[in-house]
Amino acid sequence: MPLKVGIPRALLYYYYYPMWRVFFQELGAEVVLSQPSNKGLLATGLKHAVDEVCLPVKLAYGHVLDLAGKSDLIFLPRLVSIGRREYICPKFLGFPDMIRRIKGVPKLIDPNINLYKSRMELYRVVHEVGKLFSCSCYKIGMAYMRSVKVHNQYLKLLRLGLMPAEAMAIVEDRVENLPVPEAVDSFKVALIGHPYNIYDTYVNMNVIKRLKEMGASIMTAEFLPEQVVNNSAARCLPKKLFWTLGQRMAGAAFNYMERSDVAGIVHIAAFGCGPDSMTGELIERSARLNGVPFLNITLDEHTGEAGLLTRLEAFMDMLRWRKAGPAWV
Ligand code: SF4
Repeated sequence: MPLKVGIPRALLYYYYYPMWRVFFQELGAEVVLSQPSNKGLLATGLKHAVDEVCLPVKLAYGHVLDLAGKSDLIFLPRLVSIGRREYICPKFLGFPDMIRRIKGVPKLIDPNINLYKSRMELYRVVHEVGKLFSCSCYKIGMAYMRSVKVHNQYLKLLRLGLMPAEAMAIVEDRVENLPVPEAVDSFKVALIGHPYNIYDTYVNMNVIKRLKEMGASIMTAEFLPEQVVNNSAARCLPKKLFWTLGQRMAGAAFNYMERSDVAGIVHIAAFGCGPDSMTGELIERSARLNGVPFLNITLDEHTGEAGLLTRLEAFMDMLRWRKAGPAWV
């Protein structure tokens, strides 16, 4: 019987799941995912999480606990840094330890991932994790190479404008053809936020679908190559941001602000997120200076759908009035 490795559908799942899935499957493991986010998972997360953590981490508790009883091991890397000279939010670092104290959680695979000084560290991590499944260095190396290939294919699809769920379906061979691109609308709206806030349809009350129904076509940070994002951040900020995801969000927002085809920016933040409060402020100030319409939405476990819809509708109306010109104002 293959070992079952559980992967929570939370946090950096939206960036790395295709890669992690292939790596474990190539090593003979069966990959088990938690259910898509829902009310029950959030309730479980709220019950077990420490009060100080942000909404996405509370929800991630629910995802991990959903895997108890379904998997032999849970993959929960202790993320310190995923890029040179950058750090990731400390809540990622502490998450495996927060989880470990809960009774009934399967054994964790929680390698330390710290690429602050060098990406070579990744090879040590790959072998540390791979050895749990195979003693063949060759097999582990091949599994890693195949997972990197799929990751690059996944990133390419995101750059083409696909949402993570669509890109995952393609790299997993669940659909054969690329989804037909939507008709180009006159309102391109940049949706900026952490991937687990903007792509988790439960937590954000399906904000992408709502905006599309109101006539927006959505652009996210993942549509842009990393180099472009970093160049925009470097042009607009006096120094590099400390956090990888904050840097990516700010760089993408600055890039979209410089484009005449993007009508406005919607920033999605999570209640209790320190990095979001700073990145959001930087983006908002820059939007104000550049005269770009900006809407900030802060999600928490009590955010109501009606309030969110009203704010989105008002924002889209404002974009229409701006486009129509002074006669409408
Ligand atoms: S960056 Fe913010 S939302 Fe993400 S884990 Fe850290 S505190 Fe939570």
